[in-house]
Amino acid sequence: MSKINSKGLDTAKHPCFNKEAAKTYGRVHLPVAPACNVQCNFCNRDYDCVNESRPGVTSSILSPGQASWFFDEISKEIPISVAGIAGPGDPFANSEQTINTMRLIRREHPDAILCVSTNGLNVLPSINDLAEIGVSHVTITVNAIKAEIGALIYDWIKVGKRIFRGIEGATLLLENQLAAIASLKDHGITVKVNSIVIPGINDHHIVDIAKEMTKRGVDIFNCIPMIPVEGATFGSLEEPDHDMMFDIKNRAGKYLPQMKHCQRCRADAVGKLTDKDSSKWAGLMQHASK
Ligand code: SF4
Ligand code: SF4
Repeated sequence: MSKINSKGLDTAKHPCFNKEAAKTYGRVHLPVAPACNVQCNFCNRDYDCVNESRPGVTSSILSPGQASWFFDEISKEIPISVAGIAGPGDPFANSEQTINTMRLIRREHPDAILCVSTNGLNVLPSINDLAEIGVSHVTITVNAIKAEIGALIYDWIKVGKRIFRGIEGATLLLENQLAAIASLKDHGITVKVNSIVIPGINDHHIVDIAKEMTKRGVDIFNCIPMIPVEGATFGSLEEPDHDMMFDIKNRAGKYLPQMKHCQRCRADAVGKLTDKDSSKWAGLMQHASK
């Protein structure tokens, strides 16, 4: 079933927001955002490997022009409905690259669904641009709505040249995330909230996040089990098991629709969500990056 938004885009073709669409359409993640303005204790972006399938990993970094060329080429090969930016750092620690990329894609592909995934710290100053370009979907990762819990998850938050840590940093991040969600909704943009489930740290808190997000008009919720990554502070924690995730999703689902088919994709993922073989397009991406 199509779902035409105010810009004339069929947003039902987004494979992450509509499980049915995932059978037909793929997405391209354009890795134009290398820097990050937050250090999450579960993240280690030092691993850039073509064989690893998880967020924050890419085999290349592209400029906006290169990303646009790469998207053109991929679109000729396979059915792609979405151009997304999901790192490998944060899109809005690299706002210029992100906005320029979205503009270039929109110019050549008026029907493409444009999508960005961010920690939410610095998206607010770019929301007018996102709306004007016609970015229809934004994901914000909210791992805590209590600063005491956030302080356990984030090592530091960077605003301008200043680093904030502990409760102060977590409070600042949360305030910016909530302001961004309000503004995105005011601009008619579909908002997904991701929460990374970290056993012993925020697993007991995820349902509270879902309750709060429903009050704030968020459209869909995606609980993602943390992947323990070597070298990260939380690298020795256990990955949440199936029972924990099933229980959390069921309880959170009383408050917000749940995304249940997330594949925890790489920052340079290409194709259908279930297509994990990124090496297939790595050569073309490397060619684009030269
Ligand atoms: Fe890693 Fe994303 Fe956290 Fe940045 S915001 S540290 S890229 S998980
Ligand atoms: Fe979609 Fe999840 Fe992959 Fe993001 S990480 S593109 S939400 S399936």
